[in-house]
Formats: sequence, C-alpha cells, structure tokens
Amino acid sequence: MVPKAPRKDGSSWQRENSRLKQMNERLERQVASQRIHLDNSKKRLEEQNQELGAQSLELNARHKEIQLQQEKVAALEAKESCIDATKLDDMLSCDICAHLMYSPYLLSDCGHCYCEGCLKGWFERNTDQTYPRTSRIQHEPQTRASGFPEILNTIGRYVSHPIRMQLQAMYNNRQQQPEYTCPGCRKEVTGKPVVNFSVKDMVSVVGNVLGRPNTRRESSNIRGQQAGPFDAFFPR
Ligand SMILES: [Zn+2]
Ligand SMILES: [Zn+2]
Repeated sequence: MVPKAPRKDGSSWQRENSRLKQMNERLERQVASQRIHLDNSKKRLEEQNQELGAQSLELNARHKEIQLQQEKVAALEAKESCIDATKLDDMLSCDICAHLMYSPYLLSDCGHCYCEGCLKGWFERNTDQTYPRTSRIQHEPQTRASGFPEILNTIGRYVSHPIRMQLQAMYNNRQQQPEYTCPGCRKEVTGKPVVNFSVKDMVSVVGNVLGRPNTRRESSNIRGQQAGPFDAFFPR
C-alpha cells in the first residue's frame, strides 16, 4: 500500500509558496549584506597590503643605507690598518731625481738623505763651482785656487788699492764658502755621507710592493765595504 500524500488545498500551497519566497528573499538579503561585508574586508586587506608593501620598500631602502654605511666604515678601517705604499713611495724618494732611494746616503750635518748617484753628481758640481780648500789642493793639484794669491800680487801693482782690496775680499769670500753643501738646505757638509740602512731596507720592501725594481747601478751595495763612493770627496 502506498501512503497517501497529505492533501493540500490551493490556499495551503499559496501559503507555503509565499513563506518560501520570503525565506528566499531573506536569504538573498543576507547574502547581499555578507557580500558587502566581504567586499569591505577585501578593500581593507588590500589597503593594508599596500601599506605593508610601502613599509617593506622603506625598510629595504634603510637596509641598503645601513649596508652602504657599513661598507664605508669597513673601508675606513681597512685604510687605517694598512700602510699606504704610495705615501711611503713619496717619503722614500730622492728629492733630486724623485726615484726610490735604493742606495740612500745620509748627510749627518743636516739629516737629509739622497741617493748615491745624485749626491755624487751634486758634490761634483759643488767642486766645479767653489775653490777647494787647502786640504783638497794636495788631492787635486791642478786647481784654480792655488795660483790665485800670486796673480793677485802680480796684478796688484797695476790696479788701484780699492780694487785690490775688493779682489782680496772676493778671494777670501770664496775661500770661506763651504766646499760641499746639502742640495736641499745648503748646510755645509763636513763629514762623509753614510749609508742610511733603515731607509735602504724600507725602499727595498716598498719597491717590491709597488713592483719597481732597482734599475740603477750604485757602487755601494755591499755593507761595510772599505772603499766608499764618497772617499774621493772626503779623503780624510
Ligand atoms: Zn736621486
Ligand atoms: Zn740638508
């Protein structure tokens, strides 16, 4: 037996239909309001996302700035801790030829230092320009100075007294001029220049670092040698 379906008349169907309609409308309204709510939430999230994006960019920029500053500090620290070879190059270069002093000689009267070749050349020019002292006369017998007083006596008879006095003064002045002078400060050099071994050692280190080998031939490469390059200038 099939159970009988409940009988419904037309009015009960209509009631049922309108109830369902109302329910449907209510649900649609709820859905619509939920949709608005969701849309608002979505908008808020998007805004927050943009804000976060901007903050992230700013953080990145700050991070980069910090990195740059850290690099700068590291570079400064590296500069402070390592010796600048080019600065040493300046300090260890000869004031005459501007090359590294591979054979440095110290003038003990003033403390200046020049390379052997330059100092020898300078002393040679010194000798050409000044009249040697008596101590050098025996070393170099043919000198202009040795005959000068005789010439003075000879010509003295032919010139007036003031001129003779003037010539005598010039001669004396020449005699008083120092034989050798420092090429830098022009102080008289009274003693034989000596090898500056500390400068010599530093020059060989700096020369190696800068890749500048010693291309000059100097006579004084052997320490403690007997015949020095300045023996001829200072025979005593
Ligand atoms: Zn030099
Ligand atoms: Zn000097």
